[in-house]
Amino acid sequence: MIYFDYNATAPLHKNVIKKIQNIKFEEFGNPSSIHKIGRNSKKIVEEARRNILSTLKAKNYDLIFTSGATESNNLAIKGFIKKNNIKTIYSLETEHASVIDVVKNLGIEKKFFKTNSNGTVNLKEIEELLSKQTSSFLVSIMFANNESGIIHPITEISKIVKKYNGIIHCDGVQSLGKIEIDLDSLDVDLFSISSHKIGGPTGIGALLINLRNNISPEIIGGGQEKNLRSGTENYLGIVGFSEAINEVKNLTRICNSEIKNNRDLLETNLKKLSNEIKIFGEDTDRLGNTCYFAYPSMTSENQVIALDQKGICVSSGAACSSGKVEPSHVLKAMKVDDKYIHSAIRVSLGWDSTKEQVETFFNVWKLDCFKNGALNVR
Ligand code: PMP
Repeated sequence: MIYFDYNATAPLHKNVIKKIQNIKFEEFGNPSSIHKIGRNSKKIVEEARRNILSTLKAKNYDLIFTSGATESNNLAIKGFIKKNNIKTIYSLETEHASVIDVVKNLGIEKKFFKTNSNGTVNLKEIEELLSKQTSSFLVSIMFANNESGIIHPITEISKIVKKYNGIIHCDGVQSLGKIEIDLDSLDVDLFSISSHKIGGPTGIGALLINLRNNISPEIIGGGQEKNLRSGTENYLGIVGFSEAINEVKNLTRICNSEIKNNRDLLETNLKKLSNEIKIFGEDTDRLGNTCYFAYPSMTSENQVIALDQKGICVSSGAACSSGKVEPSHVLKAMKVDDKYIHSAIRVSLGWDSTKEQVETFFNVWKLDCFKNGALNVR
């Protein structure tokens, strides 16, 4: 099997498996219990919290464990708006569904920054819009796009938002383990992360909240997580997430060296095949592991199936839509021609991807998708 779908989820890291297997009876309690086992697990949860904060260089932040970034994004946006009576939200059409669908369902004014054809934003346009803002506002913008890998200039955007007294939430899911993160210097107000994109378990994530900010909870009950997210802590998930975080520095280094070299090799080979092959965001600041490309010969779905039959796992863009293959809203926002939208596939490499695997992928794709394509894409 060749697994090239790391942006959807990453395999459990071997250290994480070992860590979870070695959890002791005396540590596995309810962190809210006052007995010894409860106190032991509470201590481990707090160590994990500190470990994640210090890895992300987040001295000025607190961290709330959630069930994943979908919940973190919901909590950040809805929880902040509720607590602070925010009147306007700005976002991007290319955001993950857990942001864009939340934004679209809010009962407040919504505005979207334009996305250029290369997937980036225009800082001048952002400044122009925000400078006219007279009431309180929140900006929600992702660090790196899950489909295209395109990286947004969060430091610059954060500065503009602050200049006009706004609040900024950043969906940092795809940046973790792929770009160096220094939250204190990014200075965003809210930052969402997820464990399963870096080799930790699914069902655990976090929202980092700048100490200057306050939010309201979305899930109410026993008052865990500083009253901001009730429910018994996902102890196994937290232990695994913390172990995965220990790998982040190493993963980021590999993503910007070996993995990027393999991705670049793939793109060089693809471009040699035909100048009809489009690589989205090619000339833009992008994650080193992501190659999102299209050749209008075969539908995305048929390519994914053809590759799957040869034991290669890739995705047709957004994998988070419950197995549905729908035209990518990201490419639509980038105003990509329909024939490319319908033939786009995303190859996302990870720490276990090898040069040989990339070469196998290329040869299989060339034979089964490029040459055998029915040229029937609209
Ligand atoms: N945001 C982005 C950019 C993502 O890629 C994902 C996962 N596909 C999410 C949010 C949701 O994360 P989770 O699966 O942890 O809910």
